[in-house]
Amino acid sequence: MIAEVIVDITNDQVDKVFDYIARPDTVAGERVTVPFGKRYITGYVLRLKEKSDLPSNILKPLGQPKDDYPVLLPEFLALNDQMRATFHLRNVDCMRLFIPTQLRNDKAKPLYIRFIEITESFNDVELLSLVRKNATKQIELIKYLRPDISYPQAELNRKFGANNVAKLLELRVVRQITSQKLRAPKFTSREDKKVTLTPAQQKVVDSILNNREHEHLIFGVTGSGKTEVYMRIISKVLEEGKNAILLVPEISLTPQVLSTFTARFGENVAILHSGLSDGERFDEWRRIRLGEARIVIGARSAIFAPLENIGAIILDEEHDTSYKAESNPRYITHTVAKIRGEYNHCPVIYGSATPSLDTFYRAKKGEVLLHTLPNRANSKPMPSIEIVNMCDEMRTGNTGIFSGKLLEELDKVVSENNQAMLFLNRRGFSSSMVCRECGYVAKCEDCDVALVYHKADNLLKCHYCNRRYKALTNCPKCGSSYIRMGVVGTEQVAEEISKRFPGVTVLRMDYDTTKNKNELNNLLEKFGKTRPCILVGTQMIAKGHDFPNVTLVGIINADMSLHFSDFRATERTYQLITQVAGRAGRADKDGKVILQTYTPKHYVYRFASNYDYLGFYAKEINLREVAKFPPFSKIIRVLITSENKDEARATTARLYSPIQDYFLNNREQFLYCEAMASPVTRIEKKYRYQILCRFLLDTEPKITDFIYETVSRDKHPSALVFVEINPSNMS
Ligand code: ADP
Ligand code: ZN
Ligand code: ZN
Repeated sequence: MIAEVIVDITNDQVDKVFDYIARPDTVAGERVTVPFGKRYITGYVLRLKEKSDLPSNILKPLGQPKDDYPVLLPEFLALNDQMRATFHLRNVDCMRLFIPTQLRNDKAKPLYIRFIEITESFNDVELLSLVRKNATKQIELIKYLRPDISYPQAELNRKFGANNVAKLLELRVVRQITSQKLRAPKFTSREDKKVTLTPAQQKVVDSILNNREHEHLIFGVTGSGKTEVYMRIISKVLEEGKNAILLVPEISLTPQVLSTFTARFGENVAILHSGLSDGERFDEWRRIRLGEARIVIGARSAIFAPLENIGAIILDEEHDTSYKAESNPRYITHTVAKIRGEYNHCPVIYGSATPSLDTFYRAKKGEVLLHTLPNRANSKPMPSIEIVNMCDEMRTGNTGIFSGKLLEELDKVVSENNQAMLFLNRRGFSSSMVCRECGYVAKCEDCDVALVYHKADNLLKCHYCNRRYKALTNCPKCGSSYIRMGVVGTEQVAEEISKRFPGVTVLRMDYDTTKNKNELNNLLEKFGKTRPCILVGTQMIAKGHDFPNVTLVGIINADMSLHFSDFRATERTYQLITQVAGRAGRADKDGKVILQTYTPKHYVYRFASNYDYLGFYAKEINLREVAKFPPFSKIIRVLITSENKDEARATTARLYSPIQDYFLNNREQFLYCEAMASPVTRIEKKYRYQILCRFLLDTEPKITDFIYETVSRDKHPSALVFVEINPSNMS
């Protein structure tokens, strides 16, 4: 037999399948050692076949398997082909998604613990006669050991000395056994809340279970009990002997969410997220692969969990941008879920209070079955959203960050011993330091972006590459000391609030204060038990948190996300407002939202403040249709980066030439096609150029394929080229 093998070479453009002579026991999906040139490297067996097109004398034999089980499920061998066709990925990119890095690098080994047991073959007297009379520690150790107990060797080494334990092993007085320890991540489970489904929830559960081979969208307001619906569906499929995957955005993977699931499903749950240690991640992966875990909860990449016999795949907060992998390997989680759903003949369920326009549009067309949960599970109304016009505040002399109304409501929160959340989508103290005399702006030397001032470390930081710079006291260009701060960030909001509310605990939650998982958990825990308390944060605070004493949410500058040069900016703004607002008034207490804006007339605020998603959708989808933006067209960006500016430009020109010809010959299908410098012209020392195309969907596969082919044909050794489909980040 011949084995078709993918070789694991990442730093190369080798994207081929190689033939090897199979061993008699070779199985598809195994990880093997293969001879490659003069070296031995790792390969993956994709398929077995009768014969090769190559002469048998040049074929080399396959080496030994590296694991006790094939690492790739049969499903993944099929998924590999579909991922390649759909996302134009290389084989090795797929392997990177399917197999944990630790396993691929041979870094993570299963953790074994050594135990020591006394051998049964001797009685006490015989045992003692085996050791020297003056070896007191060894005699002590023999007396210490009970016949029916295994002792961790590490413990005995500590108590009696490793040399003494080794000596007894050598004398065969004791023997060593090893047993494997699975490093499961630890978290506290809370009590499982038993609830009776509302009729609306029951209807959703039933109709999904009655239409398994479909995609479903659960459109339910925040607090409508979508999580409970997911859990019921999971329970049902577990009963049937099947397994389930639940995906949530990384920042929603809070201890709260995890404990809700472990409380109900216990040891059946495996968790995959970026906060796990390498060992934990690898062990969780293996528990899943070996069938020991039946429910996988994780962020985006958990869609590649090696789970067999799947009965449901759920994407919670399906509108979240993190479901789109925007660096290599690029893929869309929804599409992968759909492929796996079809393979397993199981439902794929998307859930959101603010579905992405794409998914809702597909639901409207009937491609996805739509289910609605219009009310909160506890029948409480959504918190009222009050719009405050910050231009009016300025006119009446208030040039500060906070409107009179917001301060008034904060006073109330404090005096009633409740909690508030203040949302601002910018971390740091203030964006940019600008010279008032000459207009100089402090910029990163490696990136074409303004630096952000961080007061706590008194440093300027680049939010693109993390490089740090000394803060300015004088303008380096004209020497003036008249330096102005730019737009406000979370650090400044927290500082101002602390000044205004002395004695009240003010917490800040953003990328800077939550660099590791523990910091985030500690912050959430502290917030949970502090009253009164004001939490200032970026969109991290918008996700999933369920704190019963939050009665006020303040949105400091709602316009911030409106001004991105992204066709989805308004959609994002709508989603953010709704998600943040959903944090208030979740339990018995009423909630209120103060939304500060300089453009109060914008339609997004009218719809968002009335929780009118359908109204917003109708308006926005109409605008997209008229302007021919996705989902009515497709945008492709070819991004070219290189440290060498000429190289970047030359590559761009070379790639653009055939694409432009194609465009000129098919003008009626294109809405747009240009080559230019990217909006951010440099990041991490690399110059950035782009070819931007927008075209009608009718002709879509042909143009897309043409662009991918053009890029893959071109040799560009010192430039990197990426093809992005409908990218959300266009910097
Ligand atoms: P969502 O995921 O839609 O935002 P959750 O599932 O978090 O909503 O539910 C919000 C709250 O309502 C939770 O505290 C949950 O325990 C509660 N809940 C959900 N379903 C019911 C129900 N049928 N009866 C009572 N409480 C419920
Ligand atoms: Zn100056
Ligand atoms: Zn930088």
